[in-house]
Amino acid sequence: MQKYIPKMYKSNIYEIPYQKLWEKGITHLLFDLDNTIVPGHVKKATKEVKELFTHLKKMGFTIIIFSNSPKRRVHPFGQDLEVEIHPFSMKPLKRGFRHVLKKFDIKRENVVIIGDQLFTDIIGGNQMGILTILIDPISTRDMFLTRWNRFRENRMFQKLQDANFLEKGIYYE
Ligand SMILES: [Mg+2]
Repeated sequence: MQKYIPKMYKSNIYEIPYQKLWEKGITHLLFDLDNTIVPGHVKKATKEVKELFTHLKKMGFTIIIFSNSPKRRVHPFGQDLEVEIHPFSMKPLKRGFRHVLKKFDIKRENVVIIGDQLFTDIIGGNQMGILTILIDPISTRDMFLTRWNRFRENRMFQKLQDANFLEKGIYYE
């Protein structure tokens, strides 16, 4: 069960203590795209996301949109937000994570994955030995596959809650 437990849990990407992460030595932020940065059906980032990312880049972070979605979905966000992208990342497999570490010549302890799904973002990051931050999904208007994952996810959440590991809406750092 340990592999499902995020190191940190926040309601959204704006609540994350980025300064603290920076002080811990985190230099690279891997952001999931769908339902983490924008709802799954939305094609453009909001002004708030742009402002947050501009701020984070000024702090010194390198931002990488690390998404299981195809390039045609992820690329426009990379352009618009002026950040790196890694589409078709195949989370929770280690392959994509390894690729990023190699490409940016960084160590596990310098990276964090921020995402809304236990079964991809959190397991993937935990298995890779990098810091994991769970946030609540922005939208519930998901595609069928995500809805099925969400169903499994809710059951897992229940199990974690029963074991006092993680409770929906009880955020921690
Ligand atoms: Mg997601």
